[in-house]
Amino acid sequence: MKIGVLALQGDFAEHIIRLKHIGAETAEVRLPRHLDGLDGLIIPGGESTTFGKLAVAYGLIEALQAFGQSKAIWGTCAGAIFLSRDIHRNQPLLGLMDIVVERNAFGRQVDSFETDLDIPALQEIAPGSGPYHAVFIRAPLIESVSGDARVLSALPDGRIVAAQQGHLLATSFHPELTEDDRFHRYFLKLAS
Ligand code: GLN
Repeated sequence: MKIGVLALQGDFAEHIIRLKHIGAETAEVRLPRHLDGLDGLIIPGGESTTFGKLAVAYGLIEALQAFGQSKAIWGTCAGAIFLSRDIHRNQPLLGLMDIVVERNAFGRQVDSFETDLDIPALQEIAPGSGPYHAVFIRAPLIESVSGDARVLSALPDGRIVAAQQGHLLATSFHPELTEDDRFHRYFLKLAS
């Protein structure tokens, strides 16, 4: 398995460490040709407006949209924003997933937090495993899912923080920042 990580900005290095840890081959993606030969792509956390500006400048928008038609893509935090169809603001998006996202939904950087989540889909990866410890950093919320998209996890009050649509995955939080590799293994399975 060869998984690319969009390396325009943000914490792509942490995703690469997690992917190597579970035995995947990795590649940094900055230009359309870097997508050749990849089985899947991770769009990391960072600043979604920066991803948008740089992706437009490097001709990556159309290339990523075409890649996502058949290949697995997982967006974490800013990556989830970039994958979504609508964020009620005007900035470049891939529009691949039928999710509406609200940026910075929990407040400012100081309002970042960590919490344990119940994520039933991870039982496919590690049967009988416990809750998932999730790190939220100036995180977005998935306001709603539609079409084929389904909710993978929500906070106790029902606010959605992870969704999947076929081979596309979006998480409000940062699985690359913990040692728990269940989410990366789940994505590898999606990409295979
Ligand atoms: N606040 C950032 C944005 O709106 C996302 C933060 C993150 O990726 N941790 O793009």
